[in-house]
Amino acid sequence: MSIIIGFPRIGEHRELKKALEGFWSGKSNAEELERTAKELRAKHWSYQKNLDYVSVNDFSFYDNVLDLAYALGAIPERFRQYNGLELYFGMARGLNDSVACEMTKWFNTNYHYVVPELSQTDNYKINTSKIEREYAEAKSLGYRPKINLIGLFTFISLSKIAEKSNFENVFERVKSAYFELLDSLKKIDSNLVIQFDEPIFSKGKDERFYGKIKDIYNQIASKGFKTIVTTYFEHSLEATEILCQTNIDGIGLDFLYGEKNLSSLNQIAKSDKTLYAGIIDGRNIWVADLEKKLSILEKIAQEIPKEKIILSTSCSLLHVPFSKNSEIKMDKEILSWLSYAREKIGELELLETAFKGSLNAEDKQKWQENISINANRKTSTKINDKSTQERLKQPIKTQRDVAFKERIKLQHQSLNYPILPTTTIGSFPQTPELRALRLSFKKGEIDEKTYEKGIESYIKDCVAFQEEIGLDVLVHGEPERNDMVEYFGEQLKGFVFSQNGWVQSYGSRCVKPPIIFGDVSRPKPMTLKWITYAQSLTSKILKGMLTGPVTILNWSFVRDDIPRSAVCKQISLGISDEINDLQNAGIKIIQVDEAAFKEGYPLRKENIKTYEEWALDCFKVSTSIANPTTQIHTHMCYSEFNDIIKTIEDLDADVISIETARSGNELLKVFANVGYSHEVGPGVYDIHSPRIPSKEEIKKQIKLLLEVLPKEQLWINPDCGLKTRKWEEVKPSLKNLVEAVKEIRE
Ligand code: GLN
Ligand code: ZN
Repeated sequence: MSIIIGFPRIGEHRELKKALEGFWSGKSNAEELERTAKELRAKHWSYQKNLDYVSVNDFSFYDNVLDLAYALGAIPERFRQYNGLELYFGMARGLNDSVACEMTKWFNTNYHYVVPELSQTDNYKINTSKIEREYAEAKSLGYRPKINLIGLFTFISLSKIAEKSNFENVFERVKSAYFELLDSLKKIDSNLVIQFDEPIFSKGKDERFYGKIKDIYNQIASKGFKTIVTTYFEHSLEATEILCQTNIDGIGLDFLYGEKNLSSLNQIAKSDKTLYAGIIDGRNIWVADLEKKLSILEKIAQEIPKEKIILSTSCSLLHVPFSKNSEIKMDKEILSWLSYAREKIGELELLETAFKGSLNAEDKQKWQENISINANRKTSTKINDKSTQERLKQPIKTQRDVAFKERIKLQHQSLNYPILPTTTIGSFPQTPELRALRLSFKKGEIDEKTYEKGIESYIKDCVAFQEEIGLDVLVHGEPERNDMVEYFGEQLKGFVFSQNGWVQSYGSRCVKPPIIFGDVSRPKPMTLKWITYAQSLTSKILKGMLTGPVTILNWSFVRDDIPRSAVCKQISLGISDEINDLQNAGIKIIQVDEAAFKEGYPLRKENIKTYEEWALDCFKVSTSIANPTTQIHTHMCYSEFNDIIKTIEDLDADVISIETARSGNELLKVFANVGYSHEVGPGVYDIHSPRIPSKEEIKKQIKLLLEVLPKEQLWINPDCGLKTRKWEEVKPSLKNLVEAVKEIRE
């Protein structure tokens, strides 16, 4: 028997995206949106027909956490005047004067959920119509549904609780509403099956609620439906122990990203619960090694009777693309190594048949194919690059030649920048013309020469503008880049790009992560041409712009046959080569963006140290090649450094720019508190909004920063890259920034 935790909802050809965007723009109405949704659900269930259940309520118009907040009636006050879809999308995207709820990453994936806002003055009113409708649809199509529901503990833990509210009080209120919702669902079917998703249990003990798990799941289990509690992304030993003492029917565990779950088997066996064994990877795209999976299952079966084991995906398939059927252009050998959501269901079924010992002739052939694909993947020359492997065996430099204290003096002498130097984070507005230029080049509609002329002209304008307003350190503006990871991935060996490998990031937004399938190396310079061209246009210092190895890794699908740290190290060497070429060509400042450094942090505290060690090491492998006089910058797109400040310091970047505009100087204080000695560029205005900050406002912000760090240590820049803004916004904003600094300097 087997299940999946959930299926991607965006559609094989991103139908849901198109339907949503049509609806938002007023081009289509709610009925049309509903019709598309219904068709998608029916199609997606049809692939699940051989599983024990089809997943209901994994569908969403925007996000499942938002769905639950909406179903519970947990509506922030500013939206209470609205209802229906207007209210629902209002919470997700903002409506009139009411700003949208925040969005943040779903555990350590690249999916974002809408953060519920809870307060002890809320009055909840439940609404189960969405779940009921989808359940009825699945039933009417003849399927056996299970309802996917975010668990109470995960829901509350991920919510923002109003400052003046008391956790206990809020918990009790939400719990009552949640129970009411369950009671209401119970009425729709006497044989209801509910899968409670509790990935929060994978983060380990949380004192605020650990004492409540037993009681609450006992109460839920007594409501009279089949209760499955599932955890994923890590092991959940602590919670499993408690859950084994409850009356729930089944426990779902991730045996791929939480191998330690194997040590819970004994308890589960004793408790006589059904185990939903997460064994097919829900968040990566490689063909399963079925022999290996089978041996894990056999190991599990030594403790738990086979009839109590149900095979499952490790987590929802939401995190992988739809089907590799649409990958028409990809190299056939590489394609044979991949498995997307639909293919994973096939793997699950085949594995189950093997586990039961009932492979027929056709199955056996498929099994053999799987064995040979996996064997080929191990030995293929596409994956194994001798020169990269050799290079990694040689000693690799991980320290700059001269310590910061000394080299910063040399840099000041050579670069000679003023106090409170001004700069930007790298990108300038990506205009429709620019996008069109790149696209027509990609499609072969224009020749290389025309394309390069276009890019050069953008760079020229960009440099001229920066000179004109008097910025101190200039950038080329990144016009040649579609995306900060894709641009590098396309030029590094070992990467491949899918045609249709879309994965939902949030709402209607999807991303197509690069796929790292083999040993990585940099065949030739990636940025040298544009950056040196930009430098040739000005006598001011031009800052070269690269994406860091950890960010490239964290935003890609990464091969699973060697450790992530090893893949990252290979990327670092490529970036290090690029830095060397840039400095040899006369580029004096180089920024290595690590926008996703923090995203890669493990869920469990005990694993953090290891991650920090290798991530740090990789950044330093990239940057230690820099001469003492080459100034290394880095940039990170957030500001909460409390937990990681020590590691940030150890990166040993000469300058770090961070996002702080929205928090005044609060978040910068941690740098001062630890005696951070390197230079810092805390963003002085928020680039996420079209608003143009006034000179006065920026001056005020700079003064706040000066209360925290000495002027010798500060750089002045916006919060992040400017690519999503318009020139009409960027020009006056940066002018004001430069003016503000001038006045402060005086
Ligand atoms: N250099 C990049 C840019 O300006 C950095 C983007 C980011 O931090 N996400 O666009
Ligand atoms: Zn940023």
